Amino acid sequence: MWWRLWLPACLAWGCVTALCGSRGLCPAPNASHAEPGQCPRRRAAELCAWALSSDSLLDPFPVDVIQENYVRNEVLENILDLDISVKGSSDFLEFVSGGKVIFGSVPLAHRYGGHQFGSWAGQLGDGRAHLIGVYTNRHGERWELQLKGSGKTPYSRNGDGRAVLRSSVREFLCSEAMHYLGIPTSRAASLVVSDDDVWRDQFYNGNIKKERGAIVLRLAKSWFRIGSLEILAHSGELDLLRRLLDFIIQEHFPSIAMNDSNRYLEFFSTVVSKTANLISLWMSVGFAHGVCNTDNFSLLSITIDYGPFGFMESYDPNFVPNTSDDERRYKIGNQASVGLFNLSKLLQALKPLLDPRQKQLASQILEGYGEHYYTRFTELFKTKLGLLGEKENDNYLIAFLLKIMEDTKADFTMTFRELSEITADQLKELHIPEEFWALQDLGKHKLFSEWVTMYLLRLKSNNNDSDAKRRTRMATVNPRYILRNWMAESAVQKANLNDFSEVQLLGQVLQHPFQRQEAAERAGYSLRPPAWAKHLKVSCSS
Ligand code: AMP
Ligand code: MG
Repeated sequence: MWWRLWLPACLAWGCVTALCGSRGLCPAPNASHAEPGQCPRRRAAELCAWALSSDSLLDPFPVDVIQENYVRNEVLENILDLDISVKGSSDFLEFVSGGKVIFGSVPLAHRYGGHQFGSWAGQLGDGRAHLIGVYTNRHGERWELQLKGSGKTPYSRNGDGRAVLRSSVREFLCSEAMHYLGIPTSRAASLVVSDDDVWRDQFYNGNIKKERGAIVLRLAKSWFRIGSLEILAHSGELDLLRRLLDFIIQEHFPSIAMNDSNRYLEFFSTVVSKTANLISLWMSVGFAHGVCNTDNFSLLSITIDYGPFGFMESYDPNFVPNTSDDERRYKIGNQASVGLFNLSKLLQALKPLLDPRQKQLASQILEGYGEHYYTRFTELFKTKLGLLGEKENDNYLIAFLLKIMEDTKADFTMTFRELSEITADQLKELHIPEEFWALQDLGKHKLFSEWVTMYLLRLKSNNNDSDAKRRTRMATVNPRYILRNWMAESAVQKANLNDFSEVQLLGQVLQHPFQRQEAAERAGYSLRPPAWAKHLKVSCSS
């Protein structure tokens, strides 16, 4: 059994207990209301006119008999079909803080396992997230909704089921930022702060402090992870493994035929190429996830479970965002090979369902991962440099640039951005305006002019191109704004004092990471990070 029924965290969060487990303030739905899981004809201005369904998750699987228990407009309006006015209502607040069960919802926690930092960690599971149901929106998209930080579940182990404000703000902002960078990710709909205190030893040095708790309403097409399958293979629950796989394939891999005897192989092949794609996308924006355990790797190859992530600033393949990662296992330059490790664990979980020939083919598929990754990485970096067509030395040109960036500690994001803004003539003259601070750093390298000569020559071989076209094209793929640690930290510090203005500003700015914005410029978001940011640390504690 791997689904557990669970009631939401309303008692833990001190909300109106009368609503807990009831249908809340709304009358029971009648014919004029939405059916569970169906999209309403119009945007719903009241939660009563809106419904969720858990049937498609519950029906195929065994259920445990024990039954205990600032809002982003785009997600609410365009994904969840809610009118923005709903966020002012008290029942909406109760819903997003875990105090109200929406009609049709059966809150669930999912049992999964995982390899953590290279070793099998046994049973894990949703320890502080409740899957509250599926919403099928007006576009026919099926979204699974989770509340994170909403209290204990049967899989909380020694945890308190809570999440602190700092990590919740970071997940909320970064998952949305990643979406607008064009990277597959879970989304965030809302964040509420709890009145309850949460105790954390943030840097694992014995200094336990009281912090503010929060709950994020987050969404994904699916929350299944590699660890979701691993636990079933490890415990020998092979019928359930088959059922879960068939469910995932049927729901999320429409190009795979359910009667195809090679469907698990097809599934594996898709996950291999999509994971390679995801990690190359991460690398193209300098994103380090921080905890690439198999329980944090989505079977749909989307970015999930934001923890001690970081965007690399000075280019450094050894960049480790998580100060708790002593062995530097999840440094940015290791992400591609960690992806391979995780996929090998996925294959291990699939093996009991494969015949000998399929096992052999699956190993070959896995061997192709490196090439998928490298091809995609090259494609992305060529686009970042504005290169059209293919030339023999393209890989060399990219590697050469990365090497001089590493030597000069040039800022990764702004080097590419400034290359998108500077004209070819300015580059040719080696005339780098002062505001191009990352290129100024890069320009100190003794081989800079050699790289520039090579780059300009390569740009000349672009067909049907002009310098203006090149710059416009490059500015659509090289962000000017990313969620730097100092920006998140500054927003968190204010949020801790009940000032959410910077969270809101960042939320707005990061919706348009490729567009220069006055408010962002005033806030210094494209400037050299402030000196105090050098000492910032992000740990696993959340
Ligand atoms: P993470 O490293 O955040 O991906 O978490 C690893 C596992 O620990 C997951 O199963 C989480 O649900 C669980 N977990 C993390 N923090 C808590 C907490 N405060 N309470 C309960 N479970 C937690
Ligand atoms: Mg996790």
